[in-house]
Amino acid sequence: MSNNKTTVMIIEDENAIRNFITTILNTNGYKTINAKNGKEALSLIGSYVPDVILLDLGLPDMDGLDVLKSVRETSSTPVIVISARTTEGEKVKALDMGADDYITKPFGSSELMARIRTALRHSHKVLTKDLGGQEIFTTGGLSIDFSARQITVEGKEVHLTQIEFRLLALLAKYVGRVLTYEFIINNIWNMQSDKNSQQLLRVNMANIRRKIEGNPGIPKYVLTEVGVGYRLADLDS
Ligand code: CA
Repeated sequence: MSNNKTTVMIIEDENAIRNFITTILNTNGYKTINAKNGKEALSLIGSYVPDVILLDLGLPDMDGLDVLKSVRETSSTPVIVISARTTEGEKVKALDMGADDYITKPFGSSELMARIRTALRHSHKVLTKDLGGQEIFTTGGLSIDFSARQITVEGKEVHLTQIEFRLLALLAKYVGRVLTYEFIINNIWNMQSDKNSQQLLRVNMANIRRKIEGNPGIPKYVLTEVGVGYRLADLDS
């Protein structure tokens, strides 16, 4: 982090959780702005310009999704949704409405910090390392050379089909973030997410895992978010 303190806005009505998050963030050198409800949040966002917004979906005065909608009308600040709701539908809805990620209660400090770092990394657009004009992406032992269209795992070259390469490249572009089925299918096949296209996606993901994972049953790189989508593990942050 730079000298300028990163500012995180916490929109959460439960005092205990808000205090817990505030303590973690302040301990880690972040500045915090607190809002107890949606109306307060929307007015504060106008005067402060947070670098990241943590948004509880269950607010007393308005639906968290409506807060998200208002924020997205005017800003692209990363929003991480905090949800006690475990239904996949809510998470997918929030992601499709422009949330960058979600974290489900109860969560620990390391998970929270990892999510915030990932969100900041994306907003600062340091996605790839520029090595002598070559675009190389790495996470753990996985390396993608975009210009050579070459993938290596632990130094060994892996051969992917064109679709598999594009899928992995898409996940790499949003490393650490969960991508919904809908988003991936739209991007790769320009199709709607339905039973058939989701099956097509599953087959391709299984092939990618077979090629890049040491143990495809316990993937290290391409992680499944049940009912939501996939996430490429951010092993370098
Ligand atoms: Ca709440």
